[in-house]
Parts: sequence; structure tokens; C-alpha cells
Amino acid sequence: MDHFDYRNGRLYCEDVPLADIAEKVGTPVYVYSTATLLHHYRGVASAFAELDATVCYSVKSLGNLHILKLLADEGAGFDVVSGGELSRVLAAGGDPKKIVFAGVGKTDREIREALQAGIGWFNVESEMEFDNLARLAGELGVQARASLRVNPDVFDPRTHAYTTTGRKETKFGVDIDRAGAFFTRAAENPDVTLDGIHLHIGSPIYSAGPYVDAISKALGLIDELRRRGIEVKVLNIGGGFAADYEEGKSPSAADYARDILPLLKGKGLQLLLEPGRQIACNAGVLLTKVLYTKQGGEKKFVIVDAAMTDLIRPALYEAKHFIYPARLADGAAPPVRRFDYTPEGGEVVDIVGGVCETSDVLGAGRCLPPLGRDDLLAVFSAGAYGFVMASQYNARPRPAEVLVEGESFRVIRRRETYEDLFAAEK
Ligand SMILES: *Cc1c(COP(=O)(O)O)cnc(C)c1O
Repeated sequence: MDHFDYRNGRLYCEDVPLADIAEKVGTPVYVYSTATLLHHYRGVASAFAELDATVCYSVKSLGNLHILKLLADEGAGFDVVSGGELSRVLAAGGDPKKIVFAGVGKTDREIREALQAGIGWFNVESEMEFDNLARLAGELGVQARASLRVNPDVFDPRTHAYTTTGRKETKFGVDIDRAGAFFTRAAENPDVTLDGIHLHIGSPIYSAGPYVDAISKALGLIDELRRRGIEVKVLNIGGGFAADYEEGKSPSAADYARDILPLLKGKGLQLLLEPGRQIACNAGVLLTKVLYTKQGGEKKFVIVDAAMTDLIRPALYEAKHFIYPARLADGAAPPVRRFDYTPEGGEVVDIVGGVCETSDVLGAGRCLPPLGRDDLLAVFSAGAYGFVMASQYNARPRPAEVLVEGESFRVIRRRETYEDLFAAEK
């Protein structure tokens, strides 16, 4: 569900034609819908409201200050994975008490900054990290609160190997068999209160099943710990909830909640969630213009002004984004957002960027209406892991970001200039 629709053959974001944005701001440009973002955030918050859940939006999925501010104003918490993300959330006015700090490689500097900010929870991923956190908290004279990231050895076979994190042989978390000993040892430490369990099994996870399996295992562990006199108060079930890369293909927050909530009712646990893509993915498109078309052997290529430097997901893990023109031919039907969608008179093309890498493909083997120079294309479902992964490879300035609200839009990150490319080299 989102707010990108065709009206009279023109693609709109809320009440703004995308062509207007391209004309005023140029391309490539990321365009986000306020209404879609809030719709998805509120969807998660209300689906899990019964358990008074804290929704900690995953900043790494889309971390623009203006987006964070919108969510902070809604009362969201935040999941950060670096000192840089922490500073973004603080700059956007996020509540430190609702910040979760995850990641296997937290540096001393980052840990100190998080302790000084008074964040809610550290997600601890190893014995050594726990000891280091305790040392730094002791030095600063503050109490840290932490959850242990437990590895439930659960995964979704449909998740790409590069984004599967819940199996035993992974750098993330500690094996569930080792968790009991970990808690026992931690209970003696005066500087860190370890009273939570954190799970994050990968992303996207296309159904509630893997969550149910992982939570069931965590509940078994919690019971065992309680029998030993160790109280677990917080269960953080992570992120990874799917988003619609194809129309209607992902469960809603309510669908996940329907299976997850019954497991947790009456357990006396504070519930945390860390959704990223479920909130941000369908709230954004990447707008790009056709530069050239050409034939290469049997293949037809459409070369556009966006590239893997702007959206790396297809090159990085073969992710698929639906791509379609922002303007339809007179009388043409709006597309169904499926990768195998074939419009009448369409031709199969590869949509590629201009970077010197063969993997610089935005969409391979897509059937699109005939395209010409300057035609505007929308790469859908690009809100999450889009701009945040953009780079300046090939000395390409990163694109602008625009936020739409109703009939108006504003630039929330200006397009980078050539000066930006070497400003830090002086
Ligand atoms: C990346 C990440 C998330 C968010 O994943 P999504 O698929 O965007 O929901 C949540 N928690 C942790 C620990 C992560 O690493």
C-alpha cells in the first residue's frame, strides 16, 4: 500500500505529479511520500499496540533527518547501528530512552557516545563486547542496559544469503545454547543490566512463521532463565518484516501480529520491534531519466541517469524493483506492479546505469512500453536501502531527496555538487 498512483496517465506521489519534481529538482531524485511513511509506521504501532510495543524504526533503512523527525514526532523509537546514526537521531529530536544500539562492531567511541546520550538499550552480540561495555560504563559512572542478541538458528529460505542473519554460522549474536551461561555471568556485573533478549533473523522475512519459531525458542530460554532466578524483562523481535516490492505480495503488520501476539500475551515482557523496510520501502521511488537506448546482441538496453551508485540493491543482492514510465501513452492502462508485467506493445529491455561495472543494472529483462530520450522512469519501492547506500563511485554526486506532503513537496537533501565530492580533501 502506498501513495504513488497514475491519474490520467501521469504518475503522482500523493497530489504531486512526479514530472513536476523532476523538472524542478532534476534527476536522479528520490521522492518520498509522507502519507505512506506514516501509514506504515502507524500500521506497525497499532498492530502491536495491545502489548504496548515500542517501535524502534531502523535508521539504516532510510535515515534522512526530516524522515527521522517525522517519525520522532509520531513517538517512534529508533534502532541505530553506528555512532553516526545515533547522532542523526539526536539531531532529529529522537528520544534517547527509546534508542536501541545494535551491531557486532561497536567501537569504544560509539559506546561512550551512546552511554552519554543515555540510550535505552544496547544489543550486545558477544562476551567480549559485554565486558567492554561494562568497562566503559564503569569508567563513565553510568548504568548501561542491554539485551543479548541470541541466534535462534531460524531462517527463511526465501531470504537472500547475504541478508540471512539468524543461522548458527553467522557473525551476529550468540548461539542460543550459550545464552544461559552468558546471562549467569552477566548477572554479577554491577555496570550493565542485562535483562533483554534480542532476535533479528534476517530480512526480508516473508511470513510470520520464522518469527513464531524464533520467539518460541526465546520464550523457552526465558522460562529456563526464570527458573534460575534471572529475570528477562524485554523481548526485542528485531526487524525484517517484508514490504511490497510487488503489489500485494507482502503480509501487513497486522498479519504478522496475528501470529506473534498470542505467543507473547501475559508473558510480562516489554516488546520492542525494529522495522525498517516495512515502513520506508514503499514510501519512496527513485526517479530517473532515459539517456539512450541501444542494442547489444539480442539485448536492448535502456541507459538511464541513475545508476548502482544511487540504488545498489540490484547489483548487491540481486534485488528486484518494479520500474515503469512516469507518463503513459494516451489511453494506456496503469501497470500492475509485478516483475513479469507485460504491457501491450511492450518490449523486453535491461535498464542500466552509466557506471563502469557490468553489474550496474537497475532492472534486467523487464517489459516496458517503447522508451525514448528524456522519458521519466520511476523505480518503485526504493525508499529503504536506497539513498542510504548511495555512493560517489565514478565521482558521481549523490542524488537529491524530496519529501511530498499532499499537494506540496520540499527538498530534504539537496543534490550534491562537484565541490562536495572533494570538500574533505582540502
Ligand atoms: C537491518 C536491521 C533491521 C531492519 O531490517 P529491515 O529489514 O529493514 O526491517 C532491524 N534490526 C537489526 C538488528 C538490523 O540489523
